[in-house]
Amino acid sequence: MTKLLSVLRTKYPGISFVPKDSFYWSPRTSTVFYVPEALEGANGQWSLLHELGHALLGHSNFKSDFGLLKLESEAWVKAQKEAKNHTITIDPDHIEDCLDSYRDWLYQRSTCPGCLSSSLQIEPRKYRCFNCNNLWNVSSSRTCRTYRKNQKASVIEAF
Ligand SMILES: [Zn+2]
Ligand SMILES: [Zn+2]
Repeated sequence: MTKLLSVLRTKYPGISFVPKDSFYWSPRTSTVFYVPEALEGANGQWSLLHELGHALLGHSNFKSDFGLLKLESEAWVKAQKEAKNHTITIDPDHIEDCLDSYRDWLYQRSTCPGCLSSSLQIEPRKYRCFNCNNLWNVSSSRTCRTYRKNQKASVIEAF
C-alpha cells in the first residue's frame, strides 16, 4: 500500500513527504506530512492525496476560517483527479464527512460564547459578536482531520 507514496515521490520531486503523527501540508517547507501506518488503509491514502491536493494547488496560509473551507473543498477535487491516475476511488461520503466536520468546527468557533449568536472573524485568531460585542480568541487554524472524534479539539477561550 505504500506503493502510492513511492509513486507520488517520483512524480512530484519538488514536494517532500515526511512521516508524522498526522496528515497535513506545510506550505513553508513544501512538505506533505503523513501517518505511515495509516497508508495501509484506504482512508490514509485518501488523506495523503488530499494533502497532495493542497500542495499541487499551492495553498498557503489561510486568510479566514471560511476561506479555509473553500480550500478544503478544492483540495478534495484535486485529490479525486489525482486518485484516478492511481486507480483509487475516494468515497464521496468520506469527502462530505470531512467537509461537514469542517463546518461543525467553523460553527463552534464562530458562535459567541456569551449569547450564542453567529459572529464574525475579525483577525485570524479573533472573533467579535455583533449582538453583544463579546470578543474572543480561537486556537490557530486546524490541520485537516478526517475523523469526527477529533473535531472537538478546538478550544474557544472567552475573554
Ligand atoms: Zn454575543
Ligand atoms: Zn485539507
